[in-house]
Amino acid sequence: MTITEATATDTAILELQLGRVPRGVIGIANRCVCGAPRVVATKPRLEDGTPFPTMFYLTHPAAVKGCSTLEAGKWMETLNQMLADDAELRAGYEAAHKHYIQTRDEVEEVPEIKDFSAGGMPTRVKCLHAILGHALAAGAGVNPIGDLLIERLVTDKLWDPVTCSCNHGETPTDLTK
Ligand SMILES: [Zn+2]
Repeated sequence: MTITEATATDTAILELQLGRVPRGVIGIANRCVCGAPRVVATKPRLEDGTPFPTMFYLTHPAAVKGCSTLEAGKWMETLNQMLADDAELRAGYEAAHKHYIQTRDEVEEVPEIKDFSAGGMPTRVKCLHAILGHALAAGAGVNPIGDLLIERLVTDKLWDPVTCSCNHGETPTDLTK
């Protein structure tokens, strides 16, 4: 994993992507092929003291939208069934959860969130955006559900990591959806 410094340009793009100035930015954990931020790395504890478990936050509007489309299509139910049926997948997802927490603890250990990662890990899939954020930051082979998710986004032509689909003029995406 490589977290690079957020430049003034990155910060301006993040603001366009999110519709607000992101808080607690450590740096950029994954970038589009064009260089624009796709995942922002956020401090485990924000300046005001709030614990923030989602260290890897997906910001790229097209990727966010792709995840929202898959969530609306109930694909998470399929993933949760796969987790229930497949011990190997379950073990991989548990390892991804530990990887997440370990990476975050290297920045700062925050007792309030010590067993929490993101996206429903380690036992459920609850937020594809958080899973994709981790998968992109960590790289292939770390989060098996995230790797399946990237495959599915590409197959369904919703988003492709090797193609730039940035459009910095579009309406900021509401990440809470
Ligand atoms: Zn791009």
